[in-house]
Amino acid sequence: MSLKAETDKQLIGTGLKRRTEEALANEFLRKAVSFTTDKLKTGKLQATDEFGSWEAWRERGREIRKHVVENLDYYLTQFSDNVAKAGGNVYFCSTGEEAVQTFLDIAKKRDAKLVAKGKSMVSEEIRLNHRLEEQGIEAIETDLGEYILQLAQETPSHLIIPAIHKNKQQIADLFSNEAGETFAPDTKVLAGYARGRLRNYFLEADIGLTGCNFGVAESGAITLVSNEGNGRMVSTVPPCHVVIMGMERLVPTYDDLEVMLNLLARSATGQKLTTYTSMITGPRREGELDGPEELHLIILDNGRSAQLGDPVFQEVLHCIRCAACLNACPVYRHVGGHTYGSVYSGPIGAVLTPLLQQDMKEAGQLAYASSLCGACYEACPVKIPLHDMLVQLRARKVKQGFTPLAERIAFKTFQTAFGHVKLYKLAARSAYYALKPFAKRGYLKKAPGPAAGWTQSRHFPMLAERPFRDRWSELQRELKRQPAKAASAANEADAHANQEQPPQGGRQHD
Ligand code: SF4
Repeated sequence: MSLKAETDKQLIGTGLKRRTEEALANEFLRKAVSFTTDKLKTGKLQATDEFGSWEAWRERGREIRKHVVENLDYYLTQFSDNVAKAGGNVYFCSTGEEAVQTFLDIAKKRDAKLVAKGKSMVSEEIRLNHRLEEQGIEAIETDLGEYILQLAQETPSHLIIPAIHKNKQQIADLFSNEAGETFAPDTKVLAGYARGRLRNYFLEADIGLTGCNFGVAESGAITLVSNEGNGRMVSTVPPCHVVIMGMERLVPTYDDLEVMLNLLARSATGQKLTTYTSMITGPRREGELDGPEELHLIILDNGRSAQLGDPVFQEVLHCIRCAACLNACPVYRHVGGHTYGSVYSGPIGAVLTPLLQQDMKEAGQLAYASSLCGACYEACPVKIPLHDMLVQLRARKVKQGFTPLAERIAFKTFQTAFGHVKLYKLAARSAYYALKPFAKRGYLKKAPGPAAGWTQSRHFPMLAERPFRDRWSELQRELKRQPAKAASAANEADAHANQEQPPQGGRQHD
């Protein structure tokens, strides 16, 4: 199975079915993803139980994010003014292309040839590495998971554990190939190699690039959280630090930051606090021992502001990218992140990707990559109703006419039949006789035509020979004529129905 980057808009929807089938056929991937997401989920539950009053913290988190997003213009101004006061340069970019050009201009002025990158989903979103490569600038990922993926030429398949689908042997093969010597699939050996290799990049890089977990509006502090310490190296060792952040990633005050850091660490990895939490306010000042000479902050819109004011989708901007919804999602846990064909995967990716790309035709297909069970909402530390949004996205796709012709005809027919009693009765009778040859002991084991998907992994109950409404009216009539006899006949019919069992080799429809 090829897990190479498929970030091209055209491939998101068109390739979804193929990628899903490939992922489902990849037993290793399925086991690896569900093993790690299970661990993350269990860690989260423990951390939130220990914490106590988790629901109250979630509610507080939701209120903070809601307040920020509702007053985004105010906090963006306050934050950017404070970053500038501290000596940083601020750039607002409407599109990914603008952000890339801004970065290239900074790199050109510094004659940069090497960029050391900390983990940044926004830079993945705008495909920055690809563009830097075109310009002859080498960009090296310094987050271990991202470094592994860079060697494998793949995109992240999880928001916080990008190489969730790789095992030690695969990583050892990648490192051996890179180093020209053979490494054992041993965590210490592999981490040791990566550490030694990356250290030089920190020292030699012309620019350090990071994302921003939260910008603190009251001070202009850029908050970075990481478990590897590479974010701290990238933001302090190279002479120039460039930060790329989504425009919504703000909190008003340090008090609010405390709430969000608790929610983020516990939801993401089950930690009380992430190992390294850095707050960077401006470049190095006179007399300070470390820090970059220049700090540049690129604030990216790229489809985010289009959600402001939208009664349904504005809340998607509350997301703090903790990935708890991925870990809880039964679809993600079976197929992993590359299936989504977007840098943002799982339930949040299925909502965010079509909205940011403003593309319901292709990216809108992701709205169907969900069972709508609501586990994502339960897991979300800021209570984003992703399952409701997925339903609304499906409705939007239908309204915009992007559903296949066969589906539109099927639903039109369904609407017509259900709108007229006589037609409905006729359709129900016809369906019974059409399906009868495929039924066995009251169940359909293999449904015909487009309905086959329903019976691939479960048995579907056969339509009743006599519809309930006919039996009900007859029973009412009988009850009026001979009450005792009618009641006994009804009980007998119930007992008979309860004895019907589905054929072996599948499970009942649920
Ligand atoms: S939607 Fe919620 S659970 Fe999912 S990544 Fe965002 S904040 Fe985390």
